[in-house]
Amino acid sequence: MVLLPHAVVGAAIGVAVKNPLWSFLIGIVSHHLMDSFPHLDYGSRLIKKSGPRFLGHKPKIKSDSPRKFDETFWKILFVDFSVAWTIFLWIFYRLPEDLWLSVFFGALGALFPDVLSFYPPFVKAVTRKYKWAARIAEIHSVFHWALPVKPLFWGLFWQIAFTASALVYLSRFLQ
Ligand SMILES: [Zn+2]
Repeated sequence: MVLLPHAVVGAAIGVAVKNPLWSFLIGIVSHHLMDSFPHLDYGSRLIKKSGPRFLGHKPKIKSDSPRKFDETFWKILFVDFSVAWTIFLWIFYRLPEDLWLSVFFGALGALFPDVLSFYPPFVKAVTRKYKWAARIAEIHSVFHWALPVKPLFWGLFWQIAFTASALVYLSRFLQ
């Protein structure tokens, strides 16, 4: 899934758990649970036919697929990041300060598997050196059901549902 639903669900875990370490760990688990729902993702433009590995499938990649880190990728990342950043500023502004740390680590944990799976060279070096990092990256690729760009409805449905539910839950803690 894109950055926004993961980050907001991580924040909701933070206010529920009220403990930075546990929020971080449960945040990581939440990432894989959410990714196992069919969704539109940064790699969707490269996918010809989707199929999650946890159901024994393997996604088929387009033969004429665009480069992963092209201009469109960075544009989508910019919008995704900006919206998430704005929502987080608003959450922190309205949230009691004793929940900040737990919310921060919840969101960090919820985003962590994607940081490891983006595979820029420095991350590759980490996953090669540390077994735990390689294991998270492996779990990520198994519990991940990315769809092609169409059909758009199912690509967005679960991401909107997760984001909206988390925001409704968070709103109970805002001042
Ligand atoms: Zn992911």
